[in-house]
Amino acid sequence: MNPFQHLVDANIQRINACVARAAEVSGRQSKDVTLVAVTKTQPAEAIRAAYEAGVRHFGENRVQEREEKLSQLADLDATWHFVGHLQSNKAARATALFQFIDSIDDAGLARRIARAIPEGHRYPVLLEMKLDLKESKFGLAADKISGVADAVISEPKLELRGLMGIAPVVNEPDQARPFFRQLREMRDALERRYNLPLPALSMGMSHDFEIAIEEGATQVRLGTALFGARRYA
Ligand SMILES: *Cc1c(COP(=O)(O)O)cnc(C)c1O
Repeated sequence: MNPFQHLVDANIQRINACVARAAEVSGRQSKDVTLVAVTKTQPAEAIRAAYEAGVRHFGENRVQEREEKLSQLADLDATWHFVGHLQSNKAARATALFQFIDSIDDAGLARRIARAIPEGHRYPVLLEMKLDLKESKFGLAADKISGVADAVISEPKLELRGLMGIAPVVNEPDQARPFFRQLREMRDALERRYNLPLPALSMGMSHDFEIAIEEGATQVRLGTALFGARRYA
């Protein structure tokens, strides 16, 4: 028996109920919201337990950490998202290990990713917008988004799918709401700018995902709520 299964099963049940409730508030259904299990610091067995519980989307924020767990998880039919800060020199490795890069924050990085994609293929990406202007080191300021979006749109090997954001740490989850709204409005503005659907809105983490879903999140990135506290070596 997988030692993480009991914990993860119980957490998933609780999360699914919260997702359903929040989706209803925004006039949607659970199936409109994808749970991305963020597995940084978690062992392969914990990831496998989430897979057994029905999770199919996973996220890591470091290329090397994905590489380290790769061989133990090779049999899982899962979709992997890169959700961290990606250095340009790791772009090619990242595209080999992840099906999505959700955190593009630089036009040069977008070009490096495009160069790694074989002819005739399109690789899906999200732009990361900086929502926490005080604390966040990464992500694009609002006035830089459209420039980088232009660069992604002009790459035939990239497919712009939407936006990702990390809300500031707040005392009450509801205080994150204006930041999620800002991200959604930016997504809507880009859809109008390009006359293109940008269906992906990746926002909401363990402490604020219900508010994010109420504000239109289509992907929530959960670590602690699913696995408990991170296991730093
Ligand atoms: C770690 C991480 C998460 C998950 O955080 P929790 O608060 O544990 O749910 C989500 N998104 C990103 C980008 C992360 O690095």
